[in-house]
Amino acid sequence: MNGSRESVSSYFGCQVFSEAVMRERLPKNIFRALKDTIDDGKPLDPSIANVVANAMKDWAIEKGATHFCHWFQPMTEMTAEKHESFISPTSEGRTIMEFSGKELIQGEPDASSFPSGGLRSTFEARGYTAWDCTSPVFVKENGPTITLYIPSAFCSYNGQALDKKTPLLRSMDLLNKHAMRVLRALGNVTSKRVIPTLGAEQEYFLVDRSFVDKRLDLVLTGRTLFGAPPPKGQELEDHYYSAIHERVAAFMNELNMELWKLGVSARTQHNEVAPAQYELAPVFATVNVATDHNQLTMETMQKVALRHNFVCLLHEKPFAGVNGSGKHNNWSLSTDDGINLLDPGTTPHENEVFLIFLCAVIRAVDKYSKLLRSSVAVAGNDHRLGANEAPPAIISVFLGDQLTDILEQLAAGGAKTSKTNGKLKLGVSTLPPLPMDCTDRNRTSPFAFTGNKFEFRMVGSSQSPAGPTFILNTIVADVLSEIADELESNGDVNKKAQEILQKIAKEHMRIVFNGDNYSEEWVREAEKRGLPNIRNTVDSLNTMLDPDATAVFERHKVFCKEEWHARYEILMERYCKAINIEALTTLNMAKRLILPAAIKYSGIVANAANAVQSAGSYSDTLKKSLDQVCQLIDSLQQNIASLENATQKASSVEGVAKQGEIYRDLVISAMNAVRKDADKLEMLVDAEIWPLPTYAEMIFLR
Ligand code: ADP
Ligand code: MG
Repeated sequence: MNGSRESVSSYFGCQVFSEAVMRERLPKNIFRALKDTIDDGKPLDPSIANVVANAMKDWAIEKGATHFCHWFQPMTEMTAEKHESFISPTSEGRTIMEFSGKELIQGEPDASSFPSGGLRSTFEARGYTAWDCTSPVFVKENGPTITLYIPSAFCSYNGQALDKKTPLLRSMDLLNKHAMRVLRALGNVTSKRVIPTLGAEQEYFLVDRSFVDKRLDLVLTGRTLFGAPPPKGQELEDHYYSAIHERVAAFMNELNMELWKLGVSARTQHNEVAPAQYELAPVFATVNVATDHNQLTMETMQKVALRHNFVCLLHEKPFAGVNGSGKHNNWSLSTDDGINLLDPGTTPHENEVFLIFLCAVIRAVDKYSKLLRSSVAVAGNDHRLGANEAPPAIISVFLGDQLTDILEQLAAGGAKTSKTNGKLKLGVSTLPPLPMDCTDRNRTSPFAFTGNKFEFRMVGSSQSPAGPTFILNTIVADVLSEIADELESNGDVNKKAQEILQKIAKEHMRIVFNGDNYSEEWVREAEKRGLPNIRNTVDSLNTMLDPDATAVFERHKVFCKEEWHARYEILMERYCKAINIEALTTLNMAKRLILPAAIKYSGIVANAANAVQSAGSYSDTLKKSLDQVCQLIDSLQQNIASLENATQKASSVEGVAKQGEIYRDLVISAMNAVRKDADKLEMLVDAEIWPLPTYAEMIFLR
């Protein structure tokens, strides 16, 4: 399993129980039955489980595995696993290695310590994991132990979803159902399934571990809670796409190898805008597999970084003053026979199927923009959205010139032409003329059409892509179900399709915006158009409780009301806990590191002033420095006391909604006040005494 300089194809996916491995190791009829479930969504036949489990076990043991685990995605944005060995003692005091179909299909971890939002009390500990055969099983090394990983869904004793995979799978089924209805109504008789696809670009920071070890804030919260701005930031724009530093390249090389072995098709890598910031993008896959792969990517990044004495930071905003990190969810719909339903082709105005699916997405995003916004509402993202580095908190859709023009034509009665683009001539005889895309890119849009897919750019770097994806799947499916209802009713299909397109174009043009999303004018313009601008996590999560938000999930059985409301509880509680940990860490560092350093420094200056005086002289500078340091020490002390009060108040309040408001309104500003004094002190106090690595060190030294 060591793929140093071997050709990638010789080891790509070597740790995966892939289709090729299954075909080789499973009896033909069993392989077919399993493939029917994986490809066509047919129910899994439990009677084949024993044979499959046995083949998996033999394969895993050949790879050195001693353990297996159900690998699932509780509501923590991360994954969970409980390992069991294959060992089964015999009566003669020996052991054989066993793995039954039942163990493959179902696990029963004690679930009491996972967030459930009240769906399960701690004394009702039972939870179940269920094998998701649509995402491949794999083996992974954890130190010396090799374990067989079984991607699984996770639910309560009553079958209520406690994870991110269950609703994702439910939403895929739903989308398939209504997209197929639309396709059939429009005359497609060949496709059998519609599958949402996802390519999740992942941004991250790498910081030398020696610095991180000295920063409790990075260790506990993933972001710096203190730090004066460095003399240089990202203003020279000299990091974006620059040559990759050797130490970072070595990290990326090992990361790619690890991911490739796991079958994750890591493809692009580059330096991002902020110093010390990077990006990885895989080749897209079904949303289910892509989500599992993104979870593996985040985990592997952190693991491999440590081997290179880096720490990989996945927080949305590790450093104030430079860009934060996002996850760009590229999403599209494809059929089992290879049609990308969001591919406009060369004459999109004539491409009825494309226009129907495009308009379905546009209507869904406008109709449910608050819901979509709530899917990216996490504490870390509040530093990004609307901060002129990431899309604003206002949701709009970028379509580009060609499609906007077609939509305008549709609204006016019907689309007759598609704007085309010629060749790009570079004015150099030796350079070939390049074909021009029909639309430019727009980096500022939160939801941009990018040729044959949409790119949802608001997702936070630390988030599981599952949440935003099952919401997008569900709202698009909801609109497709309306469209299917109309198309299936009596009358001429093409006429009805044109009416639907015209209606959507007229009604939802307001969500289309091709200009600069970072500008102040857009904020004003969006308000005029009646588009919501929900600026923080608390306000956004509150919209989850709107009746129409709950109704869309209930209607399509992606969630029952209790499940959806439990998610609200969990997410709001997570917000409160995240801010609480930041506040306590701020207090800890301010009291134990920063205040003592400032006091020590004031003593040094005071001694120097005394010494100068005893020597019969006087220094105005010394006097002023001392005054300045002492004033800041007093102010810091007062702000520490205020933060202590605010934190206490927040934690003593009942109910997550109220608590969230106090954390947002009182605790965060109290934390900022402490930081302000501390950062001023950093610029005064002798660098030898300052207890924390600085911004310049952390983001520029590697
Ligand atoms: P850019 O920098 O232009 O956003 P990247 O190459 O960094 O481009 O990322 C684009 C992502 O979109 C990749 O992960 C790619 O696999 C993905 N992608 C391409 N086509 C589709 C599709 N049909 N469905 C989902 N994702 C797609
Ligand atoms: Mg990119």
